[in-house]
Amino acid sequence: MSNTKETVLEINLAHLTHNFNYLKSKVAIDVKMLAVVKASGYGSDASVIAKHLENIGVDYFAVAYVSEGIVLREAGIKTPILVLHPQPLNFPKLIEYQLEPSLYSSRTLKEFIKTASLLDKKDYPVHIKFNTGLNRIGFWENDVDHIMDQLKVTNTVKVVSLLSHLAASEDHNEREFTLDQINSFKNISKDVSEKLGYTPILHQSNTSGILNYPEAHFDMVRTGIGLYGYGNDAKYDAELKPVASLKSVISQIHMLEPGESLGYNRAFITSDFTKTATIPIGHADGIGRQYGNKKGFVTINNKRAYILGNVCMDMIMVDVTEIDCKEGDEVIIFDANLNAAQIAEYSGTISYELLTAISPRVKRIIIDNN
Ligand SMILES: *Cc1c(COP(=O)(O)O)cnc(C)c1O
Repeated sequence: MSNTKETVLEINLAHLTHNFNYLKSKVAIDVKMLAVVKASGYGSDASVIAKHLENIGVDYFAVAYVSEGIVLREAGIKTPILVLHPQPLNFPKLIEYQLEPSLYSSRTLKEFIKTASLLDKKDYPVHIKFNTGLNRIGFWENDVDHIMDQLKVTNTVKVVSLLSHLAASEDHNEREFTLDQINSFKNISKDVSEKLGYTPILHQSNTSGILNYPEAHFDMVRTGIGLYGYGNDAKYDAELKPVASLKSVISQIHMLEPGESLGYNRAFITSDFTKTATIPIGHADGIGRQYGNKKGFVTINNKRAYILGNVCMDMIMVDVTEIDCKEGDEVIIFDANLNAAQIAEYSGTISYELLTAISPRVKRIIIDNN
């Protein structure tokens, strides 16, 4: 029996090492590994994750926003950090903290060159993002000449990488679309490299790209979800080890008579004698209301206990009528056995959303068995 006494998110660094090595084994020896640690390291702790990965030889980090990069620099991270989706407002801070922008439009390229010139920068490392089908952010193929015109007249920036992002690399039914994206990126990269006079680092693959499309590995791969133990496919999930485990405790047990209601808005009415357990985790901790009304469950003494009624801000109530349990017993929301992908799927979402929703209120505990 574990000694979980409150709601905690355990972060297992041995599992992180395992996942990193597994993903690295899937790419050629000279392909660089970029670790995506946005959204607090997919809901864990970005600084802890990044320090560990820095120690075991990661080549690059990526975050979504400048503020996330600053957190890493303040934690002492020295490895290059790519900011995937910066806003021009934050370019001065980005430069102050030696972060590297992904420039994805004429506006961001122009604004970045302006900011870098004002700060007297020479050859400041930048990354150019191309849209090859996700249609989210990025330059289009026919923007290349315009990009070159802007770059020709300045020496404030240096293009260190070209990147694009796959829309459906985990989806085997979209193989043709993905291969088109890969081809399109190859053509753009060739064109840009010729015009620059050198070939920057090329990268297009996320975790599922690494696992499903060896032809899309190029010079570097960007892995997020895989590092945290999920492969978007049962076959790969079996090889990876979930890093985070979300655990809690039974605060109180109630015995309800038939016909009683439970929780806000009386969303659940008992039809029989019902034993309920109240758990100190709610939507403010990241267990959204979509998990209520038996769309989600927790595990208590190896048995499933479904969430009854609405999820509250700070609590859920679960059905333990058939479970031998008592106040103070451990509750597992997800762990390496019953993982976040399985819980998420049951409620109609994906591991990414469940993991990144775990709020800062949940205490993080680092497990480091070297
Ligand atoms: C989030 C993100 C990734 C990581 O994707 P995973 O599926 O988690 O591996 C890679 N590249 C970009 C541009 C991203 O936004």
